[in-house]
Amino acid sequence: MAITTRALLDAGAVVPMLIGGEWVPSFASNLREVTNPVDDRVIAQIAYGGVSEAQSAADQATAAFESWSNTSSRYRADILWRTYELILERADEIGALLSLETGKLLSEGIGETRFSAEYFRWFSEEIRRPQGEVFASEDRSRKQLSISRPIGVAATLTPWNFPLSIQARKVAPALAAGCTVVARPSEKAPLAVGELFRALVDAGLPPGVANLIYGPASIQSNALIDHDGIGVISFTGSTPVGSALMRQASNRIVRCALELGGDAPYIIFSDANIDRAIEGLAIAKFRNNGQSCIAANRVFVEDSIMDQVCERLAKLTSSMRIGDPLGHERVDLGPLIDSSRVRDVDRICRDALDSGASFLGESPIVPDGANFMRPGFLVDAAFDSALAKEEVFGPIAGVFSFSDEDEVIHRANDTKMGLAGYAYTNNQSRIWRLAEKLEVGILGLNHPLPSVVYSPMGGLKGSGLGREGAHDGLLEYLETKYISIGIE
Ligand code: NAD
Repeated sequence: MAITTRALLDAGAVVPMLIGGEWVPSFASNLREVTNPVDDRVIAQIAYGGVSEAQSAADQATAAFESWSNTSSRYRADILWRTYELILERADEIGALLSLETGKLLSEGIGETRFSAEYFRWFSEEIRRPQGEVFASEDRSRKQLSISRPIGVAATLTPWNFPLSIQARKVAPALAAGCTVVARPSEKAPLAVGELFRALVDAGLPPGVANLIYGPASIQSNALIDHDGIGVISFTGSTPVGSALMRQASNRIVRCALELGGDAPYIIFSDANIDRAIEGLAIAKFRNNGQSCIAANRVFVEDSIMDQVCERLAKLTSSMRIGDPLGHERVDLGPLIDSSRVRDVDRICRDALDSGASFLGESPIVPDGANFMRPGFLVDAAFDSALAKEEVFGPIAGVFSFSDEDEVIHRANDTKMGLAGYAYTNNQSRIWRLAEKLEVGILGLNHPLPSVVYSPMGGLKGSGLGREGAHDGLLEYLETKYISIGIE
């Protein structure tokens, strides 16, 4: 029987890193505990490396690059397809691990696992399509074309909120393109990612092509960025950290693909289908316990329907059940990732209350347990309050009224971020105006779940650089080489 992370946990064994095709402990035998956010119980010990492990993984990936980058696209596609099948076969177990380490609902953990598998399927197909272009030369004595070559080793640095799918949407296109990989997931949620790499090994990926390290964030990231073999840093996380990594990368002029923070407006016009808008908001705000980069952060409601919408939102939050996602009761919301996240959301709520806001319905401010927080909406927060200006990253949002389209577009765009946005309206002309004027990279119009593997995801302004998913996602791992051939 294959060893799984679940089996390691059951046996109380240390969860290892993957370097050069070997499952290894940290070189200095260091460990780090992983906890379940429901009760802060220790659920695993992971091998916790440092600079040496980062360098060793980057060395292995660099050595493997020559042969992997010269394999046929068919060969790589077959391994990716097998990985897709294995992740799907193991989706229940991996989904439960995700739920255990992050506190997300089990259905969301399994859903994220299936979604992650889809990236391997999609990129296994995309890499078989033609890459490159032949130009219409203006000179008959020359043939001019471009070809694509893999950029080198990809360092994939990821957060805890969607730990599996965010790694998958980097690793799948990187491997498809012919890059090798060193992955460093968040130390808060490293377990399901381990299963992704186990699936790659079981699918027949050659040693050293994909490496997985755990360890201190900035120390390992900097060691990777400074390593000559690394050709691209693909980071998802907060804007300040993305900005620090970009500065470090400027020393060697390393390409950066950055998926950073969000501050999504969610706009409800009076001509919208209000039922659908409220149902959509429940998903866009509370999915993943409110800890999603594309979560609705500021809800704008046209003033003629403000009372009606507020009443519905109060009912929605009071009906939501909170608890252990892996417990016996059905729950709608699990815990936040840790107490520091609870404290931060709490700070934003208190600042809004000080600015004159009030909660619709019950106050969520008193945590129900260590890392639990009730969902809630706050109305009448000041425009310069933290609630109106910062990414909440928890099950709370501000609700603001507006009187016309120009005003709400201006307010929605009045942020340093530009990741996602949502609007509900039945006015077709307005839909098009919003599509053009809202300053976001991802726009959900009359629906709350825009993420699919075949669409390009990414942000404008402080929300990042580059796109993930779709053909654009492949380009992050490829260099374009232009060739001009003289013909006699
Ligand atoms: P974070 O930036 O604190 O951490 C992200 C990763 O970077 C983690 O692995 C962490 O260990 C590491 N890290 C932390 N400090 C570092 C440092 N100084 N140098 C190098 N690495 C460091 O973010 P988080 O709290 O894990 O995640 C939440 C943030 O991520 C939110 O802002 C959210 O919007 C954003 N996010 C964006 C997307 C997207 O697709 N744009 C998706 C998910 C999350």
